[in-house]
Amino acid sequence: MNNGKLNHLDLYRLPWSLSDNAISWLEPTAMCNLSCDGCYRENEKDSHLSVEEVKRHLDVFQKLRNSDCISIAGGDPLLYPYILEIVADIKKRGLKPIVNTNGKALTMELLKDLKKAGVYGFTFHIDSKQGRGGEWKDKNEIELNQLRLKYAEMLAEVGGISCSFNSTVYEDTLKYVPEMVDWAHKHIDIVHTMVFIAFRHVIPNMPFDWYAGAEKVNWDEIKYHSDMKRDIEIMSTDVLAKVRERFPEFTPAAYLNGTVKPDSFKWLLTERVGTKDKIYGYLGPKFLELMMTVHHYFKGTYLSYASPSLTKKGRSTLLLLWPFDKGLRVALKNFLKNPLRIFKKTHLQTIMFIQPVDFTEKGEQNMCDGCPDITVYNNELIWSCRMEEQKKYDTWLRTVPKN
Ligand code: SF4
Repeated sequence: MNNGKLNHLDLYRLPWSLSDNAISWLEPTAMCNLSCDGCYRENEKDSHLSVEEVKRHLDVFQKLRNSDCISIAGGDPLLYPYILEIVADIKKRGLKPIVNTNGKALTMELLKDLKKAGVYGFTFHIDSKQGRGGEWKDKNEIELNQLRLKYAEMLAEVGGISCSFNSTVYEDTLKYVPEMVDWAHKHIDIVHTMVFIAFRHVIPNMPFDWYAGAEKVNWDEIKYHSDMKRDIEIMSTDVLAKVRERFPEFTPAAYLNGTVKPDSFKWLLTERVGTKDKIYGYLGPKFLELMMTVHHYFKGTYLSYASPSLTKKGRSTLLLLWPFDKGLRVALKNFLKNPLRIFKKTHLQTIMFIQPVDFTEKGEQNMCDGCPDITVYNNELIWSCRMEEQKKYDTWLRTVPKN
C-alpha cells in the first residue's frame, strides 16, 4: 500500500463504546496559559471547579462508564490548584490518571509531586499555532521537536511515566507530519505515542445554516469558528497518505468509525515495533484485538495508555506473540535477519490520527462512535469537543443544508 486508501473491514474496530471505553475526559478548569488556533474551549479565568465538583464528575463516569484511564484536560490542568489531589483521587479509584497539558507550567518539582500522587502518563499538546512565546515563538513543527524532546527527557528522568504528544494538523502543517513521525521513531525508547488531530472549525462558506432547537444561530457566534476560509476537511486518510509518501510500509491496524459513516476513520491507530535505528514492522489487527481482549478479560477495561514497562517489551512481543498476528510475523522476520538484534532494546510505539466532526451533504454530523474523549456536563456525558454548544445553547447545534 502506498497511499491513504484503506478498507475499514480489513482493520480491527476498537471495541470502545459509550458505556465501556478505554478513556474518559475530565475538565477541572477551562483556564489556559496558551491560545491555540484550533482550540474549541473558551479560555475562562476563575473557571476552576471545586474539588467536590470534580469528584462528582468522576462519580458520574464511574456510574455510567467503564474506563481504563482518565484524561485530565481543560484548559490546562496544571493551572488547576488541586491537581495533585485529583490525580491521587483518580488513582485511588483504580483508574489511570493522564495529564493532558501544553507543558508550559510543568517543572521538575511538580512532575515529581505528580508522580508521587500517582500520575500514569502525560499527553503534551505541542504544535506551531499555540501562541507560544520566548524561545518557541514562531517555531515550526520540526523546530518544536526540541521542546517535545525536553518533556520526553524530563519524564524519562523521573521514570515509569507514559509519554505521548498531540499536535493539531492544519492545511499548512500537514507537510511536517512525516518528519514528526520520523522524530518519534528516533526517540521510540522514551516517546510512546504520537497523536495527530485534524483541524476543525466552523467557517463562513459552509453550505449549512445552524440551529439551536428551532432557533437559527449565526455561524460566527459559535466559539470554534474562523472568519477566514480554511481547510477543515483534512481526513485521517489524508494524514496517512502524507506519511506513506515517505514511509510506504506504514500500516494502520485499528480504527474507530463515525456515528454516521461506518467506513470513516475517526481514530486510526498504527502500532509499530523497532529500535531507535530501525522499525521492524507494523503490527496487525489481530495483535490489537488480542491486546484489547486480554486486557478486558483480566482487568475489566479496554487498554488505552500502555505503561513504559510494557512498551519496552518489543522483543518478547515479537518472540512470543508472532503466531497470532501476520504483522508480527513480518516484523519478526526482519528482526531475525541479524541475530545480534536479539540483544538490542526493542520498543512498541503507537501513532494515532484523529479526525474530529465532519459533515455529510445532508448536514449530518459524523462524530466518533463511542467517543473516547467524552466528558461530564450537568451530570450527563457529552462530547468534550462540542461542550461550548451545551454551555451557550443548552443543546447541540444542528446543521441544515442551505436552500
Ligand atoms: S467526538 Fe469529539 S470529543 Fe469525542 S473523540 Fe471525537 S473529537 Fe474527541
